[in-house]
Amino acid sequence: MISANEAKNIIIDSTILLDPEKVCLIDSINRFSSEDIKTKINLPLWDNSSMDGFAFKLKENFELKNESVNQFKIVGSLFPGDSYLPKIKDGEAIKIMTGAPIPYGANCVIPIENAKTFEIEDSSYVLFTTEPKLGNNIRRKGSDFIIGENIISVGQKIRPYDIAKLAANGIAVIKVYSRPKISILATGNELVKPGMKLNKHTIYDSNSLSIASMVKEAGGIPNIIGIAKDEISSIEANLRNALDSDAIICSAGVSVGDRDYIKDVIEDQGKINFWAVNIQPGKPFLYSHIQGRGKSIPFFGLPGNPVSVMVLMIKYVIPSIIKMQGDNNIHPKTIIAKLDEQIVNNSKRNMFARVKVKNIDGKLIASPYQNHSSHIISSFSESNGLANVPENCKILKAGAEVEVEVFDNSNIL
Ligand code: AMP
Ligand code: MG
Repeated sequence: MISANEAKNIIIDSTILLDPEKVCLIDSINRFSSEDIKTKINLPLWDNSSMDGFAFKLKENFELKNESVNQFKIVGSLFPGDSYLPKIKDGEAIKIMTGAPIPYGANCVIPIENAKTFEIEDSSYVLFTTEPKLGNNIRRKGSDFIIGENIISVGQKIRPYDIAKLAANGIAVIKVYSRPKISILATGNELVKPGMKLNKHTIYDSNSLSIASMVKEAGGIPNIIGIAKDEISSIEANLRNALDSDAIICSAGVSVGDRDYIKDVIEDQGKINFWAVNIQPGKPFLYSHIQGRGKSIPFFGLPGNPVSVMVLMIKYVIPSIIKMQGDNNIHPKTIIAKLDEQIVNNSKRNMFARVKVKNIDGKLIASPYQNHSSHIISSFSESNGLANVPENCKILKAGAEVEVEVFDNSNIL
């Protein structure tokens, strides 16, 4: 039996990055760039006004109170998008709107709110009511980005703010790593699809949906294949529908029960990387590679108990799915919290105990969920982290510090 860390290393080391694909900017959101992207233009492209106001040439002898210099003849107006750029002379001003290019000869813009206009004969004039300073309200060429600057790096997650940068640079299509197509298979004679009628001693297949939703949340494309009977032929037939995917996640039938056939089927079809991991919950955990159509496909054989499924998904499967998409940041967020009640680990294995971490006056306190059984689905909705209890630790006492992998940090921020 291998350790928790060995299992993680085997999975991560054997996870292969998917091929990049070109996508429209909007479809790149939350995906990972497969290229470094440099700016193609300066931003702003040219000096322009940050206010609706008046552009003019501020001279050294300017004085707010001196009517002979604080008086500018308005010689036109400029709007964003105007292609013609006028030139102004000393004593002239141009009415300018936000985003319009600064006319030749101007070195200052005064906002409309700080200007007074008046007429003398047929001409319009403006004077200023606040002290103008050289360069006021001019957005300089290249003050945001300079041509050739790196704005996206390989492996970077694309967020809305990055989309803003890319679009502002005129980039419409970028290359990101493909999203993995993940086939999900449940096995068990007792299983019924949610929404259908239960027969005697049957239960709903919750694993397929919990796995699919976690895959989706992690950026993968889940494909629920269905429910296989606990029969070799049924498992094989279902697996044939999964051979085009980038990974297969199967639940149940992987242990040592009389009708647990997953290991037999997989042994026939490929190479088993490991079968049992020294963890609690989730010990019967099979990781292998089977021959798909033209490629080798990672196969995750999880046990059937819903809690084991979710723990193994968080600890092992999701990091692999994230790595396939090119994320540089696959390591989970862990925190150190103080236990407010003891955790008993009777398993002699590395235990991942469900805990609820709270931030109480800046201190992180972890309350363990008391029922550690693998069928208690409700324990998960009451928890937000998995505390790491080493295999040789029988009791982790109240007050002890524990490392917690947080899967929902909304309570502790
Ligand atoms: P197994 O791993 O086949 O021994 O199953 C362990 C436990 O998980 C049994 O109680 C099963 O009924 C239950 N189980 C198996 N598959 C599912 C599933 N898809 N959804 C919910 N429970 C399941
Ligand atoms: Mg079973």
